[in-house]
Amino acid sequence: MTIQRTLSIIKPDAVAKNVIGQIISRFESNGLKIIEGQLLQLSRSQAEDFYKEHIGKPFFEKLLDFMTSGKVFIQVLEGEDAIEKNRALMGATNPQLAEKGTIRADFAETIDANAVHGSDSPESALREIEWFLSNKG
Ligand code: ATP
Ligand code: MG
Repeated sequence: MTIQRTLSIIKPDAVAKNVIGQIISRFESNGLKIIEGQLLQLSRSQAEDFYKEHIGKPFFEKLLDFMTSGKVFIQVLEGEDAIEKNRALMGATNPQLAEKGTIRADFAETIDANAVHGSDSPESALREIEWFLSNKG
């Protein structure tokens, strides 16, 4: 039983589909509380900085194009085992492989536009929350 914080991003595809509320509902009904949140249009350099662990990978430029294609809703979630819990609610990176009932299975179709981001470890969560707090408007 550990109360953790994690960073969640509702990506441009899900914002465009008008499902921010439906996604947030899943967090809330699973015991995760939003303690910070903002709708933001990321610049290319912000997206690059956020995803810098993927610099040089074949999908990197496409990822930046996508993450800057519209507004994102960024939020800090807090709750018991928040990091793992959020990843479980999200489902697999590729929505085609994501378990039924997960956010990616229900709101996304392709690996390029997969509805949500979630920190993948306590170290990433710390770094990404810091990143958000210094990049929010
Ligand atoms: P995110 O970091 O967005 O929460 P993730 O942790 O499930 O996703 P990562 O490996 O961190 O997956 O990849 C970051 C993003 O890059 C993915 O969400 C996906 O859109 C894209 N991506 C990852 N792997 C591939 C791939 N093999 N082909 C195309 N796009 C990919
Ligand atoms: Mg990741």
